[in-house]
Amino acid sequence: MECFMCKGTLEDKVSAFMTELDSYIVIVKNVPSQVCAQCGEVSYSNEVARQLEKIVETVKIASCNALASTEIAVVNYALPAA
Ligand SMILES: [Zn+2]
Repeated sequence: MECFMCKGTLEDKVSAFMTELDSYIVIVKNVPSQVCAQCGEVSYSNEVARQLEKIVETVKIASCNALASTEIAVVNYALPAA
């Protein structure tokens, strides 16, 4: 696979994914990803991207219930409990 930005070589690495929700930030650690050796662009497989969406959604729901005062949520990348 090559980088869609610069055609550099993509390397398999784990990295942190960060996204901003309404009032807080969600950081997902240890995400399997492909990182460009040349420009540092990070990309995720479709499967991982879908999983990230699920994790963020789960955190969003949990934060509404219990973590109202938390501004930053840090979770590990993992399959959600069924
Ligand atoms: Zn690149």
